[in-house]
Amino acid sequence: MRVGFIGLGAIGRPIAIRLAGQHDVVLWNRTAGPAAAVADATGARAVGSAREAAQGAEVVFTCLPNSPELEEVLAGADGLAAGLEQGSLLVDLTSGIPDRSRATAGRLLEQGVDFLDAPVSGGTAGAEAGTLTIMVGGSAEGFARAEPLLEAFGRRIVHVGPVGAGHALKAVHNALIAVHLAVLGEGLTALARVGVQPATALAVINAANGRSFVSEKLFPERVLTGSWPRTFRLALLEKDVGIARGLTEDLDLEAPVIRLVSDLLREGREALGDEVDHVEWIKLYEQRAGVELRG
Ligand code: NDP
Repeated sequence: MRVGFIGLGAIGRPIAIRLAGQHDVVLWNRTAGPAAAVADATGARAVGSAREAAQGAEVVFTCLPNSPELEEVLAGADGLAAGLEQGSLLVDLTSGIPDRSRATAGRLLEQGVDFLDAPVSGGTAGAEAGTLTIMVGGSAEGFARAEPLLEAFGRRIVHVGPVGAGHALKAVHNALIAVHLAVLGEGLTALARVGVQPATALAVINAANGRSFVSEKLFPERVLTGSWPRTFRLALLEKDVGIARGLTEDLDLEAPVIRLVSDLLREGREALGDEVDHVEWIKLYEQRAGVELRG
């Protein structure tokens, strides 16, 4: 099948590579280098505009930082909307904003294009292995059309509701990751100060019911080793928890924990910058407590 793919960042790139193994993929990225590199590695074709990537494609995927960037990519004479064919499907893998996705879906419907929000979880390693979890919002027909393509990089693919539902669920999911990071950052540094080794604390937590992906994988593989790989930017986690906060505020719901973690992430990103990985947030906890969790 002819497929367009836009956005070859940390997670878009391995997803596009997997799709290119099964389909005729046409790539566009804002800066040309990543598209040329994926094209060289896979035989997919890189083009000079989002419009060209969409022309002739039955399905187009986007994987961008957030919904405003998707709106930018859609707009203009050389934009994505100008190239999308009537009857085609746009699958937005971005972790975006539910309201803005509903507005985008409404506009695209007027030109006969269906839209799904289909954010992913599982990290760059999951994308490479083809084992991502994908939460899809949109019509049942759109989901049925997209599912065989999503199987190229997803293991658990769930239709969670109408347009925007995938983005809402992803934001809440990532708020959980942020809370686990924050509480482990606070808790393990305090424990280190009273003489409990981080590795010992994690071994106990991970054998008991307080465990999470953050305690089982991220801390042992990144914090204890001190390796700090850059796979998912802290700025993107801040954005996700901001989306979860916006969701609760739009509903007039009290959500003090999400609000607090979103404020803490903003402070963290301001202190550490836009390029650091989300797990590097823990360095601030270490600095404040005057301990290193490595070891
Ligand atoms: P990156 O920051 O690595 O990549 C962003 C991509 O978007 C790049 O291709 C970049 O192009 C492009 N881009 C940024 N701004 C614009 C713009 N204004 N117009 C056109 N293109 C633009 O992000 P990730 O790949 O890590 O994340 C993408 C999405 O996936 C985000 O919503 C993120 O929250 C989500 N996600 C990421 C995961 C991860 O592990 N990294 C895991 C799960 C979800 P250029 O190369 O030119 O900068």
